[in-house]
Amino acid sequence: MTTTHVRAACPHDCPDTCALIVTVENGVATEVKGDPDHPPTAGVLCTKVARYAERTYHPDRLLYPLRRVGKKGEGKFERISWDEALDTIAAKLKPIAARAPEAILPYSYAGTMGLVQGESMAQRFFHQLGASLLDRTICATAGATGYRYTVGASIGTDLEQFQDAKLIIIWGGNPIASNLHFWTRAQAAKRNGAKLIAIDPYRSLTAEKCHQHIAPLPGTDAALALGLMHVLIAEDLLDHEYIADYTIGYEELKQRAAEWTPARTAETCGIMEDEVVQLARLYGGMAKAGEPVAIRVNYGVQRVKGGGMSVRNIACLPALVGAWRHPAGGVQLSSSGSFPTNKAKLQRPDLLAGRTPRTINMSTIGDDLLKPSSPEFGPQVEAVIVYNSNPVAVAPESPKVAQGFAREDLFTVVLEHFQTDTADYADIVLPATTQLEHVDTHTSYGHLYMMANNAAIAPMGEAKPNTEIFRLLAARMGMDDPCFHESDDELAAQAFNAQDARAIHFDWESLKRNGWQKLNMPAAPFALGGFPTPSGKCEFYSAAMQADGLDPLPTYIAPYESAASNPELAKRYPLAMISPPARNFLNSSFVNVSSLRATEGEPHLDIHPTDAAARAIEHGDMVRIYNDRGSFACKARVTDKARAGLVVGLSIWWKKLAGDGKNANEVTSQRLTDMGRAPTFYDTLVQVEKVS
Ligand code: SF4
Repeated sequence: MTTTHVRAACPHDCPDTCALIVTVENGVATEVKGDPDHPPTAGVLCTKVARYAERTYHPDRLLYPLRRVGKKGEGKFERISWDEALDTIAAKLKPIAARAPEAILPYSYAGTMGLVQGESMAQRFFHQLGASLLDRTICATAGATGYRYTVGASIGTDLEQFQDAKLIIIWGGNPIASNLHFWTRAQAAKRNGAKLIAIDPYRSLTAEKCHQHIAPLPGTDAALALGLMHVLIAEDLLDHEYIADYTIGYEELKQRAAEWTPARTAETCGIMEDEVVQLARLYGGMAKAGEPVAIRVNYGVQRVKGGGMSVRNIACLPALVGAWRHPAGGVQLSSSGSFPTNKAKLQRPDLLAGRTPRTINMSTIGDDLLKPSSPEFGPQVEAVIVYNSNPVAVAPESPKVAQGFAREDLFTVVLEHFQTDTADYADIVLPATTQLEHVDTHTSYGHLYMMANNAAIAPMGEAKPNTEIFRLLAARMGMDDPCFHESDDELAAQAFNAQDARAIHFDWESLKRNGWQKLNMPAAPFALGGFPTPSGKCEFYSAAMQADGLDPLPTYIAPYESAASNPELAKRYPLAMISPPARNFLNSSFVNVSSLRATEGEPHLDIHPTDAAARAIEHGDMVRIYNDRGSFACKARVTDKARAGLVVGLSIWWKKLAGDGKNANEVTSQRLTDMGRAPTFYDTLVQVEKVS
């Protein structure tokens, strides 16, 4: 018996990017544990990845290339050889590439967050082809854009400082389900006397454990932030010195905030006036007393029409009260902007050689797959290569997405671990390796460590890393640039800029040995200003926003779908629906792991007792959730966790593993946010009825 312990990193779309220790016995991974020495991980994994070995050795793993033999969507395939698969793909793509390369579309996201198995060799392949570019907007771009206009980059409070905060506002997130290691720090802060306040329309697991829960209507967070500014300014709970030295636009902001009285704010948000006033007094009062006050804002606030503005407004608050002065103060949206990554070296946009292909937004894939050729759109999409994503389950307005993938004249290739809803529509399915079977390197969007992932076991069956699949495809397509011969280790070695002071001493071989290395960043990044904005200050007034056609000051943008903005629609569909992550799933990953699905139970809809009674719905009844875009059915849970007027469908279920073959994205829309061209999953009105 030989036993080894291999250093690895969690690849999933989660801010925590845990350091893993994989126990391998005679070539078999027998245990995946959290690295006790990695400060953010501290030896603890979430329940999902603690079962990573179960996922890796799952009996349903795709182990061989497959060719479709049934109808699209039916999921019937036959095994073929790699040669046959690659020859088939090259034979299909070559004539399209010669005629209209933009008719080929990559579709990928964060199925792995790895810099190597994500967008390195894959992007080189598509750049060389001249394929359509993909705007990867499906999760974070609205908030990231709003934050960037205000603060300059996705840089904020270090995760490892939160335990010293005395007030933590958890805004638009449920860290127990999706940011566990932040929650550990928040609990430590609570034990040290900190107050925790959750702002979320839904009383999530996290909100239940906070001292206070404020439940604004979905899409009204920007108004709440303006109301807080109003009280902070009116009651002079400000850090005037910080404002004078490190911000611009205060006088204009003051005028704007004056419009947002607590009464107007409360009415817009559907909360009590006193909740606005007391929260502002607590936040500003503690900051004024020199206590560290921190905000963890998460992506829940930005999946609505005004999502970018919501994050922007929240990001103004720490500068008003001088919270950035303290390492445990400020705000964290994402730490991703802290990393000096070398994306151009990995992805080689120079291979486009002056060509400027069109860009297709991944959030409107439903419409775009159904568009014919036109001067505005360009050529109809004729081939899609999907990797690290499952659009049939996760993209908005799912009926259209499925209709697009069902097109008989569309050639679809899917690289996957499992036969997902999307793989069911593929012409060719290629088996991809999991994180235990390949090399990678990672940044994080929750902490400040560069991470290494060593291969712990040999690839299962005939599975191959994404990089190798694109190398082989490049060779079949006749691409001979030397960059298509670089190994995964050579790619990883280029991932970070070792000349940058933040990544000082970065060396791939030592990172592989050690597993992780912290960036060289100041403990309080904006204590003395230094914001990476055009002005170098926190921008209450943003000239860049004005140049981009946006309101240069914080403002409120009502949802597309709400009683206030569209009363006619609200008469037919009076309930707002959100679909945040279920605790045991990670987007659509892990839904097929039986033990996790068993814990999650079955798809359900949380509905307030008042709304349920008005529809004669009882706990456990089957209900149909519908609007003009579609419908899905699941069991009702009558609970006041969902505020009145709100229904909540924890997600994202694979459609084929849900009772009626549908999920919450049947009713979400393809409309985009105010900035960042992101989807508006939580800007959805529905009606609910009992079904027999
Ligand atoms: S999903 Fe998140 S919490 Fe779970 S192991 Fe991965 S990084 Fe850690």
